[in-house]
Amino acid sequence: MGRSHALSGAVVWLGGCALAASLGARPAVGTVVVGAAVTAGGALLPDVDHPGSVIARSLGPVTRLIAHGTAAGAAALRAASCACCAGRGGHRAITHTLVFAVAAGLVVSLLCWVGGDVAAAAVAGLAAALAMRGAVRRRTRGAWGAALTGLVVGLMAAALPGPGGGWWWVGLPLGLGCLVHSLGDALTFSRVPLLWPIRIRGCRWAAVGMWAPLRFRTGSAAELLLVVPVLMLLGAISAWTLITP
Ligand SMILES: [Zn+2]
Ligand SMILES: [Zn+2]
Repeated sequence: MGRSHALSGAVVWLGGCALAASLGARPAVGTVVVGAAVTAGGALLPDVDHPGSVIARSLGPVTRLIAHGTAAGAAALRAASCACCAGRGGHRAITHTLVFAVAAGLVVSLLCWVGGDVAAAAVAGLAAALAMRGAVRRRTRGAWGAALTGLVVGLMAAALPGPGGGWWWVGLPLGLGCLVHSLGDALTFSRVPLLWPIRIRGCRWAAVGMWAPLRFRTGSAAELLLVVPVLMLLGAISAWTLITP
């Protein structure tokens, strides 16, 4: 469910910013906007290992090809790094681990550190476009809305002063978004190998997740009627805390 993932990413960042503000350390506008966009977009990134996901369909054949490549690579890595995991495929494998979240964050931090304003604006714009694509249902409307959102957030990132000291921190919301995605998956019936390569009961890709009776199915009524409204409420409260002086 792309919508819940994107939404939960943005809410985690906004909530963190609201908490910082209420403790007296009000973050810069650029930190709030760019961070929320990148966390929301990053929260869709782990599903790049599935050709049917939002991110795989976001740029047509290009992203589909990337998704097929990632799925194949992830399947090969899973089979190679654990004897009991041959033939289990590439979905919910390496991209759904803590190691991936940290590595993706480091790569983006390096990119923004070296590339400066331009790289940060590009990352923020792409992430925002992707998040919008995940949040909106209808395909065509989603494409234009996503492109426009990406452009606006990208320009904002370029125009707004960062929190001083440059943009190296953009990897933090990205990695956080990846982690929020994997934790979100762990709460559903589809658990994730979050702790790879640590062996659990002999398997390096042991699925970790919620205690069975408390898990819910993706796309279920519980997600639509409970998770999405609660996330929206938390996001609204956080945004209100940040807007009011
Ligand atoms: Zn996933
Ligand atoms: Zn195994």
